Amino acid sequence: MYWEKEVETMDRSKLEAAQLVALQDTLIKAEKSYYYGKTFQEKGIGVSSVKSLLDITKFPFTTKDDLREHWPYGFTAVPKDELVRMHSSSGTTGRATVVFHTAKDIAVWTNLLARCLYMAGMRKGDIFQNMMTYGLFTGGLGFHYGAEKIGALVIPAGAGNSKRQIQLMRDFTTTAVHVIPSYALHLSTVFDELKLDPRKDTSVKIAFLGAEPHTEKMRKKIEEIYGYKAFNSYGLSEMNGPGVAFECPYQEGMHIWEDSFLVEIIDSKTLQPVPDGEEGELVMTSLQKEGMPLIRYRTKDLTRIIPEPCACGRTHRRIERIKGRSDDMLILKGVNIFPMQIEKKLMDIPGVGTNFLIILTREGYNDDMTVKVEVGKQYFSGDLKQLEKLKKKIIEELKGEILITPKVELVEPDSIPKGEGKAVRVIDNRKE
Ligand code: ADP
Ligand code: ZN
Repeated sequence: MYWEKEVETMDRSKLEAAQLVALQDTLIKAEKSYYYGKTFQEKGIGVSSVKSLLDITKFPFTTKDDLREHWPYGFTAVPKDELVRMHSSSGTTGRATVVFHTAKDIAVWTNLLARCLYMAGMRKGDIFQNMMTYGLFTGGLGFHYGAEKIGALVIPAGAGNSKRQIQLMRDFTTTAVHVIPSYALHLSTVFDELKLDPRKDTSVKIAFLGAEPHTEKMRKKIEEIYGYKAFNSYGLSEMNGPGVAFECPYQEGMHIWEDSFLVEIIDSKTLQPVPDGEEGELVMTSLQKEGMPLIRYRTKDLTRIIPEPCACGRTHRRIERIKGRSDDMLILKGVNIFPMQIEKKLMDIPGVGTNFLIILTREGYNDDMTVKVEVGKQYFSGDLKQLEKLKKKIIEELKGEILITPKVELVEPDSIPKGEGKAVRVIDNRKE
């Protein structure tokens, strides 16, 4: 059940000792980059400042803006001819950032993914359909290499082209898939269109859901539609991509691979560490990377450490499902709202379909929120009373959660535009 038993179940004190050595090694490597060379010198810090893991707090944070400002090579820590691969982030919150890998980085990353996939139950003999964009985005190639390393047969389907996805799945009896959660829901409407039942007409047993925030309810909904087990997969391009944290079969949080990443959770306002187990922003230092090591990288992702040991025996701590990014937070009439709060409520209401969109508008000084919600086709035929009833119920439920009354517009299935990449949950038209 373990890909690398010794590493995955390593005694915490041994793991932390290994982290310290890896951290010191990383600092020596990082200092060779333009950015960290300059920063360490200015602040009079370096590897000699670190005697214990807690000394990491002597170092400044690294942010996405730092990466953007030192585009393109300001963070590379090895001669350019040592680099073998470039990837970039998706650019969800602005200009994309680039990351570079040496051959060893790719090998380490591949192994981390193999560890994740094996943990979730994938084996040699599985037929793995990777429905993620291949290219600069890390979700495609990252999983591809990891699955091959396990010995699975990989179908590099790429993103989109739903009918072909379904055909590949059926013709080649795909047993495992990697898919963005919002796309999994969209794909289910194409199964409907083709009058196929994903539970009966495919052989998929395992799905890896990653790349965007989704609620437990959303996972359940997807599992119900497809009849497979869906595992949450977390990563970000700055820390390789997928393979940073992943669910084990117990599915109570994601093990974050602490041999490769040093984890901190901070309060994003005060930038101070929060007590163990409390929610805050995830900050990570890479411990194995050599092409582009990053020190105290602020992910902006909100989560908490689950301090209790996991029943699976792995000693690497777990993080809770990502609640969203700190910069996803909407402020409407002074109230802080996360799109995931809306998703959580909607997914609980019978009749609600697979997609929603939040639109913010401003008239004079008055801000408003409209939530467009896809609901079942049956609501639009015949008696529209049911539709009105459902609308009232949704307004009530949302009001209970976010404390302001949103406008709600109910629309037919699949009428909210859906791209191949990460779902757009919010359109803010308030900016002049
Ligand atoms: P971008 O930051 O531009 O979206 P990436 O492709 O590197 O670029 O995406 C990484 C981000 O995607 C993470 O920081 C996180 O916000 C989000 N993400 C990835 N996997 C998950 C997941 N399983 N749950 C929630 N959010 C996720
Ligand atoms: Zn576990």
